[in-house]
Amino acid sequence: MSAQVHNNRKARFFNHLDGGVVECRLCPRRCRIKPGEWGKCLARINIDGELIAATYGHPAAMQVDPIEKKPFLWFMPGSKTFSIGTYGCNLSCQFCQNEELSRNAAENDGHVVPFISPPEVISLAREYGCSSVAFTYNEPTVFIEYAMDIAKLAKESGLRTVLVTNGYINAEPRAEFYKLMDAANIDLKAFSEFFYNSLCGGSLAPVLESCRYYKKTVEGHLEITNLLIPGRNDSPEMIEELLKWVKGELGLDTPIHFSAYYPTGSFQEPATPAETLYMAEGIARRIGFSRVHLGNLR
Ligand code: SF4
Repeated sequence: MSAQVHNNRKARFFNHLDGGVVECRLCPRRCRIKPGEWGKCLARINIDGELIAATYGHPAAMQVDPIEKKPFLWFMPGSKTFSIGTYGCNLSCQFCQNEELSRNAAENDGHVVPFISPPEVISLAREYGCSSVAFTYNEPTVFIEYAMDIAKLAKESGLRTVLVTNGYINAEPRAEFYKLMDAANIDLKAFSEFFYNSLCGGSLAPVLESCRYYKKTVEGHLEITNLLIPGRNDSPEMIEELLKWVKGELGLDTPIHFSAYYPTGSFQEPATPAETLYMAEGIARRIGFSRVHLGNLR
């Protein structure tokens, strides 16, 4: 791996172990990484016994978006957000809808752009008339150092910050990271540990804790997205269980986005029918949610 690509940006949230091995404390996977090897997210690499945030300063995607596209329908509606993402993800969802960014390591991809510093990101956001910066596309947890540096500058310059995340993060980094975010959309993939274990290589409990923490401790604006996949997480019982948890822990005023899945990569099960989304919407409205939105319908 070239020095240019990884920029020698030392990661935070890791421990040194014997033999040059490091243990990453950023997410519940807690990867133990030998020298020269990558963490499971393909965004953090052990170089000479130090954990390097390989994608720091190397956005794989930057774009000006309507904030509704993230999706945020109840936070600064009508405004433009400067979206930025890198490579890698700390979950390995078989049905990933964004594989190009989530499964590539920075060193393997020919699209890696030159270094763009946090002040340059803020300048671009202002130049394009954006009201906020959105950390999105791939999982922002895996570029936490870059995102936090950008977020601090954004706040100094009067821009708001929004996070689109899977919520799979440990408590210590979560406390530092989430308090810098004015709004978050957390992907609650299913109300099932089995689903997270078997399809995503993760677990549900830390995601629920992230939702709760952001709502109750940070007291930021929170929206929830639930991608529905036929036969996997779309039973009325599971949807109802998820919604009842949201009602009890986050409140009925929480905006809920039900989103349709489409076949991708090696996961080629049929797309989510529109009827499934309407069914989920009906359950949500019956429970008492009023901010219910359907997305990704073609
Ligand atoms: S952030 Fe990446 S390297 Fe760190 S524990 Fe999670 S998957 Fe492993």
